[in-house]
Amino acid sequence: MEKKITVLPGDGIGPEVVASAVKVLQAIGKRYNHEFQLSYAAIGGSAIDEYNNPLPDETIAICEASDAILLGAVGGPKWDNNPPELRPEKGLLKIRKRFDLFANLRPVKAIPSLLGASPLKSEVAENVDLMIVRELTGGIYFGEKHRDYGQASDLNIYTREEIERIVENAFELARLRRGKLCSVDKANVLETSRLWREVVEEKKELYPDVEVEHNLVDSVAMKLITNPGHYDVVVTDNMFGDILSDEASVITGSLGVLPSASIRSDNFGLYEPVHGSAPDIAGQGKANPAATILSVAMMLRYSFGLQEEAAEVERSVSAVFDDGYYTADLAKGNSRTLTTDEWTDRVIAEID
Ligand code: ATP
Ligand code: MG
Repeated sequence: MEKKITVLPGDGIGPEVVASAVKVLQAIGKRYNHEFQLSYAAIGGSAIDEYNNPLPDETIAICEASDAILLGAVGGPKWDNNPPELRPEKGLLKIRKRFDLFANLRPVKAIPSLLGASPLKSEVAENVDLMIVRELTGGIYFGEKHRDYGQASDLNIYTREEIERIVENAFELARLRRGKLCSVDKANVLETSRLWREVVEEKKELYPDVEVEHNLVDSVAMKLITNPGHYDVVVTDNMFGDILSDEASVITGSLGVLPSASIRSDNFGLYEPVHGSAPDIAGQGKANPAATILSVAMMLRYSFGLQEEAAEVERSVSAVFDDGYYTADLAKGNSRTLTTDEWTDRVIAEID
């Protein structure tokens, strides 16, 4: 298989974790005989420094010519006082909008040797293997806003088409996983939620192999803590998804191991770690590259349909943790602490 990938290293630890993920991608290409062509481009703070634009036209053109995008992270104290249009984060918002990446995927899977870092009891956290699918381009965050005198409002608006495409996406993902879908809403009080529920009910006729449940967001917020092992795919709107995906992210106990993807219906997608640019540890070999490496696994699976290759990356990452090798963020008493590069080399040795 031949694929073109745009690589956007970004700021802070972005370039370090992306370099690791690219090495893993190349190892997979070599082992399974795929050709991954990489083109590098600028985004975020480094793009502001070079082009005075957090998302330069050159970058958009390179992304357009590729099959998927790998991103590190953007931002840092250097640009914190910039005007809104010249903030690194603007680059990220614009690229999602520009490529209509409406489905945000955040998987949370327990890594057995990291369970000690979870705030949940090990026997609750060990069964966790879920994915939150959040609608990313509509809803209350984008609806009209008003403020007059002592009153403020935010319009929560969803079209049937916007709900249909995210729900279809979630059904397809459930099929690739364990065939369970939980749709989250607040249908007892919100009209948008009632339309959401209606669409899920219609779509489920097309996916008889997927088991569907509807649940209210307040109840899911509790159950994610008391019984997170219950969930497979969880699909929800922009605001509920924002809150629930942050809640779910703490289950594994480490920001350094969480991948994410923002995709659209033709499988084009942007893959990035959940964590930010971590300027406090940049350039010191302390960054945990696992989240970005696991984002590459997501790219292989969702954009390229390479299931076996994706599983091999995930297996290799788990194996290195299981052997007791950690980066500085996860190192404990009797573990071996490696630098970003050393840890990455362990993963590559697993793949070879
Ligand atoms: P954002 O940039 O998304 O607003 P933030 O700035 O609050 O997020 P991060 O940049 O993710 O957060 O960093 C939060 C903390 O976690 C920092 O102390 C950082 O060093 C640490 N951290 C984040 N990612 C990693 C990683 N991959 N490896 C090690 N430590 C990390
Ligand atoms: Mg940050």
